[in-house]
Amino acid sequence: MVDIRRELLALLSPARCQFCDAPTGDLTLCAACRAGLPWNQPACPRCALPQTHDQPCARCLANPPPYVRAWAPFRLEAPIREQIHALKYAADFVPARTLGRLLALSLGARGGDAVDVVIPVPLHPGRLRRRGYNQSVELARPLADEAGLRVEAGWARRTRTTQDQIGMDAIARRRNVRGAFSVDASVRGLRVALLDDVMTTGATLGELARSCRRAGAATVEAWALARVA
Ligand SMILES: [Zn+2]
Ligand SMILES: [Zn+2]
Repeated sequence: MVDIRRELLALLSPARCQFCDAPTGDLTLCAACRAGLPWNQPACPRCALPQTHDQPCARCLANPPPYVRAWAPFRLEAPIREQIHALKYAADFVPARTLGRLLALSLGARGGDAVDVVIPVPLHPGRLRRRGYNQSVELARPLADEAGLRVEAGWARRTRTTQDQIGMDAIARRRNVRGAFSVDASVRGLRVALLDDVMTTGATLGELARSCRRAGAATVEAWALARVA
């Protein structure tokens, strides 16, 4: 069936690459920009850490994370880093569409089982009010549209404010987010994928994964657009 909305977008949008403005037949990225993206491969299947092989890393073997699999198709490097920055701090939603579609395109290569629902990592209501939007929800929407996935942004809530984690080490981050989430009982029996924009140590995704497991989720995966090396 013809996707009317996409056909209309194709008619209205100038055929230019979103990253370098080169003319392109593709709506999002030219071939050169796509090839130059910092693909995160190979990576640890448990924590998405960039490495030289695709077996679990030493840290995950010694201390498995609370999610069954982690998937972050990109390393947090240019130009992905700049696109995330524009989305997060400049309220620029054009990158969200491109990045969400890139996520959908690379989803097939992630391996693992299908998931039943995608839950974006929630912001605290206070931060959400100040920013006006949640960047993870903005990424989840185009991903879901493109890949035919169910998104439930209301199933997870932050129950308390947490400190900004920039500069914190892994232990401090884990302490910072402990008990910060509550998850709706609707996850019971479902295969859940959590989605964040950036995965650093996995502390936030790990804590939310624990809350999902406590609420009865069958399995929990941690997804992020980009992984910090
Ligand atoms: Zn380009
Ligand atoms: Zn690992």
